[in-house]
Amino acid sequence: MLIVVLGLVIIVGFGRALLTLPAVQDMVLENGIAIIAKRGADPLPDSESLRVYVCGSASPLGMGQAQACIAVVTPEHFFLIDSGAGSTDNISRLGLPTSELDGLLLTHFHSDHIAEIYEVNLNSWVQGRPQPLTIYGPQGVAEVTNGVNATYRQDRIYRTGHHGEDLLPPALGVLAHKTIVPGIILDDGDLKITAYLAEHPPIHPAVGYRFDYRGRSVVISGDSNVTGETLKIVDGADLLLHDALSLPTVTALSEALGAVGQSRQSKIVSDVMDYHASTDSLIVLAEQSNVDMVAFYHLVPVPPNSVVEDIFIRGAPDNFLLTEDLMWFDLPIDSDDIIVHRP
Ligand SMILES: [Zn+2]
Ligand SMILES: [Zn+2]
Repeated sequence: MLIVVLGLVIIVGFGRALLTLPAVQDMVLENGIAIIAKRGADPLPDSESLRVYVCGSASPLGMGQAQACIAVVTPEHFFLIDSGAGSTDNISRLGLPTSELDGLLLTHFHSDHIAEIYEVNLNSWVQGRPQPLTIYGPQGVAEVTNGVNATYRQDRIYRTGHHGEDLLPPALGVLAHKTIVPGIILDDGDLKITAYLAEHPPIHPAVGYRFDYRGRSVVISGDSNVTGETLKIVDGADLLLHDALSLPTVTALSEALGAVGQSRQSKIVSDVMDYHASTDSLIVLAEQSNVDMVAFYHLVPVPPNSVVEDIFIRGAPDNFLLTEDLMWFDLPIDSDDIIVHRP
Protein backbone atom coordinates (compact mmCIF):
# COMPACT_ATOMS: atom_id res chain seq x y z
CA MET A 1 0.00 0.00 0.00
CA LEU A 2 2.81 2.37 0.99
CA ILE A 3 4.52 1.70 -2.34
CA VAL A 4 1.31 2.52 -4.24
CA VAL A 5 0.89 5.83 -2.34
CA LEU A 6 4.53 6.74 -2.87
CA GLY A 7 4.18 5.90 -6.56
CA LEU A 8 1.15 8.19 -6.86
CA VAL A 9 2.96 11.04 -5.10
CA ILE A 10 5.89 10.70 -7.50
CA ILE A 11 3.60 10.58 -10.56
CA VAL A 12 1.59 13.63 -9.39
CA GLY A 13 4.80 15.49 -8.58
CA PHE A 14 6.26 14.62 -11.98
CA GLY A 15 3.04 15.82 -13.68
CA ARG A 16 3.18 19.13 -11.82
CA ALA A 17 6.83 19.58 -12.79
CA LEU A 18 5.97 18.90 -16.45
CA LEU A 19 3.27 21.61 -16.34
CA THR A 20 5.93 24.21 -15.52
CA LEU A 21 7.63 23.65 -18.90
CA PRO A 22 6.60 26.29 -21.51
CA ALA A 23 6.27 23.69 -24.31
CA VAL A 24 3.89 21.58 -22.19
CA GLN A 25 1.93 24.69 -21.13
CA ASP A 26 1.52 25.67 -24.81
CA MET A 27 0.24 22.19 -25.65
CA VAL A 28 -2.28 22.29 -22.78
CA LEU A 29 -3.38 25.77 -23.89
CA GLU A 30 -3.87 24.64 -27.50
CA ASN A 31 -5.96 21.62 -26.50
CA GLY A 32 -8.03 23.57 -23.96
CA ILE A 33 -8.74 26.40 -26.38
CA ALA A 34 -9.80 23.90 -29.06
CA ILE A 35 -12.43 22.48 -26.70
CA ILE A 36 -13.75 25.97 -25.85
CA ALA A 37 -13.73 27.06 -29.52
CA LYS A 38 -15.91 24.10 -30.47
CA ARG A 39 -18.66 25.11 -28.01
CA GLY A 40 -21.73 26.32 -29.84
CA ALA A 41 -20.17 25.57 -33.24
CA ASP A 42 -22.30 22.48 -33.85
CA PRO A 43 -25.87 22.84 -35.15
CA LEU A 44 -28.90 21.69 -33.18
CA PRO A 45 -28.74 17.91 -32.63
CA ASP A 46 -30.57 16.05 -35.39
CA SER A 47 -31.57 13.14 -33.16
CA GLU A 48 -35.28 12.39 -33.12
CA SER A 49 -35.89 13.60 -29.60
CA LEU A 50 -37.01 16.35 -27.27
CA ARG A 51 -34.08 17.47 -25.17
CA VAL A 52 -34.17 19.48 -21.96
CA TYR A 53 -31.00 21.06 -20.58
CA VAL A 54 -30.47 22.52 -17.12
CA CYS A 55 -28.57 25.78 -17.64
CA GLY A 56 -29.48 27.02 -14.16
CA SER A 57 -30.70 24.91 -11.25
CA ALA A 58 -30.48 27.44 -8.42
CA SER A 59 -32.66 29.99 -6.68
CA PRO A 60 -31.31 33.11 -4.93
CA LEU A 61 -30.57 30.77 -1.99
CA GLY A 62 -27.62 28.88 -3.36
CA MET A 63 -24.02 29.22 -4.35
CA GLY A 64 -21.97 27.45 -6.98
CA GLN A 65 -24.88 26.88 -9.39
CA ALA A 66 -26.46 29.24 -11.90
CA GLN A 67 -29.90 30.69 -11.25
CA ALA A 68 -33.05 29.62 -13.09
CA CYS A 69 -32.56 28.60 -16.72
CA ILE A 70 -33.84 25.66 -18.75
CA ALA A 71 -33.25 25.04 -22.47
CA VAL A 72 -35.71 23.06 -24.59
CA VAL A 73 -34.22 21.78 -27.84
CA THR A 74 -35.49 19.74 -30.77
CA PRO A 75 -33.86 19.26 -34.17
CA GLU A 76 -35.83 22.34 -35.31
CA HIS A 77 -36.32 24.45 -32.16
CA PHE A 78 -34.32 26.06 -29.39
CA PHE A 79 -36.07 27.95 -26.60
CA LEU A 80 -34.77 29.16 -23.26
CA ILE A 81 -36.99 29.48 -20.21
CA ASP A 82 -35.56 32.22 -17.95
CA SER A 83 -31.95 33.41 -17.81
CA GLY A 84 -30.71 33.81 -14.25
CA ALA A 85 -27.20 34.80 -13.20
CA GLY A 86 -24.56 32.40 -14.50
CA SER A 87 -26.82 30.74 -17.07
CA THR A 88 -25.13 32.03 -20.25
CA ASP A 89 -21.86 30.39 -19.31
CA ASN A 90 -23.69 27.08 -18.79
CA ILE A 91 -25.39 27.43 -22.19
CA SER A 92 -21.91 27.72 -23.72
CA ARG A 93 -20.59 24.78 -21.69
CA LEU A 94 -23.50 22.69 -22.94
CA GLY A 95 -22.44 23.54 -26.49
CA LEU A 96 -25.88 24.83 -27.45
CA PRO A 97 -25.86 26.83 -30.71
CA THR A 98 -27.21 30.22 -29.64
CA SER A 99 -27.15 31.42 -33.27
CA GLU A 100 -30.24 29.21 -33.64
CA LEU A 101 -32.03 30.49 -30.53
CA ASP A 102 -35.74 30.97 -31.30
CA GLY A 103 -36.76 32.88 -28.19
CA LEU A 104 -36.39 33.49 -24.48
CA LEU A 105 -39.53 32.70 -22.46
CA LEU A 106 -39.76 34.41 -19.09
CA THR A 107 -41.89 33.02 -16.29
CA HIS A 108 -41.86 36.28 -14.26
CA PHE A 109 -39.45 39.11 -13.59
CA HIS A 110 -37.69 38.29 -10.34
CA SER A 111 -33.98 39.02 -10.74
CA ASP A 112 -32.93 35.37 -10.54
CA HIS A 113 -34.90 34.75 -13.77
CA ILE A 114 -33.93 37.78 -15.83
CA ALA A 115 -30.39 38.74 -14.77
CA GLU A 116 -28.77 37.52 -17.99
CA ILE A 117 -31.31 38.54 -20.64
CA TYR A 118 -28.71 40.77 -22.22
CA GLU A 119 -25.89 38.22 -21.91
CA VAL A 120 -28.04 35.72 -23.82
CA ASN A 121 -28.85 38.42 -26.37
CA LEU A 122 -25.21 39.41 -26.79
CA ASN A 123 -23.99 35.83 -27.02
CA SER A 124 -26.53 34.89 -29.70
CA TRP A 125 -26.00 38.16 -31.62
CA VAL A 126 -22.24 37.52 -31.71
CA GLN A 127 -22.87 33.92 -32.79
CA GLY A 128 -24.84 35.16 -35.82
CA ARG A 129 -28.52 34.87 -34.87
CA PRO A 130 -30.30 35.96 -38.08
CA GLN A 131 -33.24 37.80 -36.49
CA PRO A 132 -33.79 39.89 -33.35
CA LEU A 133 -34.23 37.82 -30.19
CA THR A 134 -37.81 37.87 -28.93
CA ILE A 135 -38.50 37.90 -25.19
CA TYR A 136 -41.84 36.27 -24.35
CA GLY A 137 -43.47 36.82 -20.99
CA PRO A 138 -46.60 37.82 -19.10
CA GLN A 139 -47.75 41.41 -18.65
CA GLY A 140 -44.67 43.49 -17.82
CA VAL A 141 -42.35 41.93 -20.41
CA ALA A 142 -42.45 45.10 -22.54
CA GLU A 143 -41.17 47.22 -19.64
CA VAL A 144 -38.40 44.73 -18.83
CA THR A 145 -37.33 44.37 -22.47
CA ASN A 146 -37.37 48.10 -23.14
CA GLY A 147 -35.33 48.63 -19.98
CA VAL A 148 -32.68 46.10 -21.06
CA ASN A 149 -32.55 47.66 -24.53
CA ALA A 150 -32.04 51.12 -23.03
CA THR A 151 -29.47 49.97 -20.45
CA TYR A 152 -27.29 48.28 -23.04
CA ARG A 153 -27.69 50.76 -25.92
CA GLN A 154 -24.15 52.03 -25.42
CA ASP A 155 -22.81 48.48 -25.29
CA ARG A 156 -24.43 47.71 -28.65
CA ILE A 157 -22.92 50.88 -30.16
CA TYR A 158 -19.46 49.88 -28.90
CA ARG A 159 -19.77 46.33 -30.24
CA THR A 160 -20.93 47.32 -33.69
CA GLY A 161 -18.46 50.22 -33.82
CA HIS A 162 -15.61 47.83 -33.02
CA HIS A 163 -16.53 44.80 -35.15
CA GLY A 164 -18.49 46.44 -37.97
CA GLU A 165 -22.11 46.38 -39.13
CA ASP A 166 -21.59 43.32 -41.34
CA LEU A 167 -20.64 41.18 -38.35
CA LEU A 168 -22.97 42.78 -35.78
CA PRO A 169 -25.91 44.43 -37.57
CA PRO A 170 -27.36 46.98 -35.10
CA ALA A 171 -30.98 45.91 -35.69
CA LEU A 172 -30.22 42.34 -34.57
CA GLY A 173 -28.86 43.52 -31.21
CA VAL A 174 -32.17 45.09 -30.16
CA LEU A 175 -34.53 42.78 -28.29
CA ALA A 176 -38.13 42.30 -29.41
CA HIS A 177 -40.90 41.38 -26.97
CA LYS A 178 -44.23 39.62 -26.99
CA THR A 179 -46.73 39.69 -24.14
CA ILE A 180 -48.36 36.31 -23.63
CA VAL A 181 -51.40 35.13 -21.69
CA PRO A 182 -52.10 31.60 -20.44
CA GLY A 183 -52.97 29.29 -23.33
CA ILE A 184 -51.21 28.03 -26.45
CA ILE A 185 -48.55 30.54 -27.47
CA LEU A 186 -46.98 28.58 -30.34
CA ASP A 187 -48.09 25.63 -32.47
CA ASP A 188 -46.21 24.79 -35.65
CA GLY A 189 -47.55 21.28 -36.10
CA ASP A 190 -44.59 19.57 -34.40
CA LEU A 191 -44.05 21.78 -31.37
CA LYS A 192 -46.77 23.25 -29.18
CA ILE A 193 -45.94 25.59 -26.29
CA THR A 194 -48.64 26.24 -23.69
CA ALA A 195 -48.34 28.87 -20.98
CA TYR A 196 -50.20 28.25 -17.72
CA LEU A 197 -50.86 30.37 -14.67
CA ALA A 198 -48.42 29.91 -11.79
CA GLU A 199 -49.06 30.85 -8.14
CA HIS A 200 -46.23 33.02 -6.85
CA PRO A 201 -47.85 35.83 -4.84
CA PRO A 202 -47.55 38.80 -4.86
CA ILE A 203 -46.25 38.38 -8.41
CA HIS A 204 -49.13 38.32 -10.85
CA PRO A 205 -49.24 37.09 -13.43
CA ALA A 206 -46.46 34.53 -13.27
CA VAL A 207 -46.53 31.62 -15.69
CA GLY A 208 -45.03 28.21 -16.38
CA TYR A 209 -44.72 26.51 -19.76
CA ARG A 210 -45.50 23.11 -21.23
CA PHE A 211 -43.75 21.89 -24.38
CA ASP A 212 -45.31 19.11 -26.47
CA TYR A 213 -43.16 17.80 -29.31
CA ARG A 214 -44.22 14.82 -31.41
CA GLY A 215 -45.71 12.87 -28.50
CA ARG A 216 -43.12 13.84 -25.87
CA SER A 217 -43.66 16.54 -23.28
CA VAL A 218 -42.05 18.58 -20.54
CA VAL A 219 -43.51 21.10 -18.08
CA ILE A 220 -41.30 23.84 -16.64
CA SER A 221 -42.84 25.60 -13.67
CA GLY A 222 -40.87 28.75 -13.07
CA ASP A 223 -41.60 29.80 -9.48
CA SER A 224 -44.88 28.47 -8.17
CA ASN A 225 -46.77 26.65 -5.51
CA VAL A 226 -48.58 23.49 -6.58
CA THR A 227 -52.13 24.36 -7.63
CA GLY A 228 -55.03 22.96 -9.60
CA GLU A 229 -53.44 24.57 -12.67
CA THR A 230 -50.29 22.52 -12.07
CA LEU A 231 -52.34 19.34 -11.79
CA LYS A 232 -54.09 20.13 -15.09
CA ILE A 233 -50.97 21.05 -17.05
CA VAL A 234 -48.96 17.96 -16.01
CA ASP A 235 -51.68 15.60 -17.20
CA GLY A 236 -49.97 13.07 -19.47
CA ALA A 237 -46.61 14.87 -19.27
CA ASP A 238 -43.39 12.88 -19.43
CA LEU A 239 -41.22 15.19 -17.39
CA LEU A 240 -41.91 17.94 -14.86
CA LEU A 241 -39.17 20.36 -13.88
CA HIS A 242 -40.51 22.17 -10.84
CA ASP A 243 -39.39 24.89 -8.47
CA ALA A 244 -38.74 23.06 -5.19
CA LEU A 245 -38.26 24.16 -1.60
CA SER A 246 -36.99 21.96 1.19
CA LEU A 247 -39.07 22.92 4.24
CA PRO A 248 -36.78 21.25 6.83
CA THR A 249 -33.74 23.01 5.39
CA VAL A 250 -35.29 26.46 5.00
CA THR A 251 -36.86 26.25 8.46
CA ALA A 252 -33.51 25.30 10.00
CA LEU A 253 -31.79 28.14 8.15
CA SER A 254 -34.35 30.72 9.25
CA GLU A 255 -34.15 29.56 12.88
CA ALA A 256 -30.35 29.55 12.85
CA LEU A 257 -30.26 33.10 11.49
CA GLY A 258 -32.74 34.21 14.17
CA ALA A 259 -30.68 32.55 16.91
CA VAL A 260 -27.59 34.59 16.02
CA GLY A 261 -29.51 37.87 15.86
CA GLN A 262 -29.80 38.08 12.07
CA SER A 263 -33.50 38.84 12.32
CA ARG A 264 -33.82 40.57 8.92
CA GLN A 265 -32.27 37.61 7.09
CA SER A 266 -34.29 35.17 9.21
CA LYS A 267 -37.55 36.90 8.22
CA ILE A 268 -36.61 37.01 4.51
CA VAL A 269 -35.73 33.31 4.47
CA SER A 270 -38.94 32.52 6.33
CA ASP A 271 -40.98 34.62 3.85
CA VAL A 272 -39.94 32.52 0.84
CA MET A 273 -41.71 29.46 2.21
CA ASP A 274 -45.13 30.68 1.07
CA TYR A 275 -44.44 31.07 -2.65
CA HIS A 276 -42.34 28.09 -3.70
CA ALA A 277 -43.55 24.50 -3.96
CA SER A 278 -42.46 22.38 -1.01
CA THR A 279 -40.99 19.00 -1.91
CA ASP A 280 -43.87 17.40 0.03
CA SER A 281 -46.46 19.17 -2.13
CA LEU A 282 -44.71 17.90 -5.27
CA ILE A 283 -44.75 14.34 -3.96
CA VAL A 284 -48.53 14.69 -3.45
CA LEU A 285 -48.88 16.18 -6.95
CA ALA A 286 -47.12 13.18 -8.47
CA GLU A 287 -49.42 10.81 -6.56
CA GLN A 288 -52.44 12.62 -8.00
CA SER A 289 -51.17 12.74 -11.59
CA ASN A 290 -49.59 10.46 -14.15
CA VAL A 291 -46.41 12.45 -14.74
CA ASP A 292 -43.52 10.06 -15.38
CA MET A 293 -40.59 11.92 -13.85
CA VAL A 294 -40.28 14.89 -11.49
CA ALA A 295 -37.03 16.85 -11.46
CA PHE A 296 -36.57 19.49 -8.78
CA TYR A 297 -34.93 22.68 -9.99
CA HIS A 298 -34.79 26.29 -8.75
CA LEU A 299 -33.64 24.61 -5.56
CA VAL A 300 -34.49 26.51 -2.38
CA PRO A 301 -31.81 26.24 -1.16
CA VAL A 302 -29.15 24.55 -3.30
CA PRO A 303 -27.90 21.67 -1.10
CA PRO A 304 -24.30 22.34 -0.08
CA ASN A 305 -23.52 18.64 0.51
CA SER A 306 -24.88 15.12 0.15
CA VAL A 307 -26.55 15.16 3.60
CA VAL A 308 -28.71 18.14 2.65
CA GLU A 309 -29.32 16.54 -0.76
CA ASP A 310 -30.72 13.49 1.03
CA ILE A 311 -32.91 15.70 3.22
CA PHE A 312 -34.11 17.56 0.11
CA ILE A 313 -35.23 14.40 -1.67
CA ARG A 314 -36.42 12.61 1.51
CA GLY A 315 -39.69 10.75 1.08
CA ALA A 316 -39.73 11.11 -2.70
CA PRO A 317 -40.28 8.03 -4.88
CA ASP A 318 -37.74 6.70 -7.39
CA ASN A 319 -39.01 8.80 -10.29
CA PHE A 320 -37.89 12.03 -8.53
CA LEU A 321 -34.47 13.61 -8.79
CA LEU A 322 -32.54 16.75 -7.93
CA THR A 323 -31.17 18.65 -10.89
CA GLU A 324 -27.78 20.30 -11.08
CA ASP A 325 -26.28 22.61 -13.67
CA LEU A 326 -25.36 20.94 -17.00
CA MET A 327 -27.63 17.93 -16.43
CA TRP A 328 -29.80 17.13 -19.44
CA PHE A 329 -32.71 14.89 -20.37
CA ASP A 330 -33.21 13.08 -23.66
CA LEU A 331 -36.79 12.10 -24.57
CA PRO A 332 -36.63 10.09 -27.83
CA ILE A 333 -39.62 10.24 -30.16
CA ASP A 334 -41.71 7.01 -30.38
CA SER A 335 -40.47 5.94 -26.97
CA ASP A 336 -41.36 6.31 -23.30
CA ASP A 337 -37.73 6.60 -22.28
CA ILE A 338 -36.31 9.56 -20.38
CA ILE A 339 -32.54 9.33 -20.43
CA VAL A 340 -30.86 11.42 -17.75
CA HIS A 341 -27.37 12.70 -18.56
CA ARG A 342 -25.39 13.92 -15.55
CA PRO A 343 -22.45 16.30 -15.94
ZN1 LIG B 1 -36.89 32.50 -8.56
ZN1 LIG C 1 -39.79 34.35 -8.22
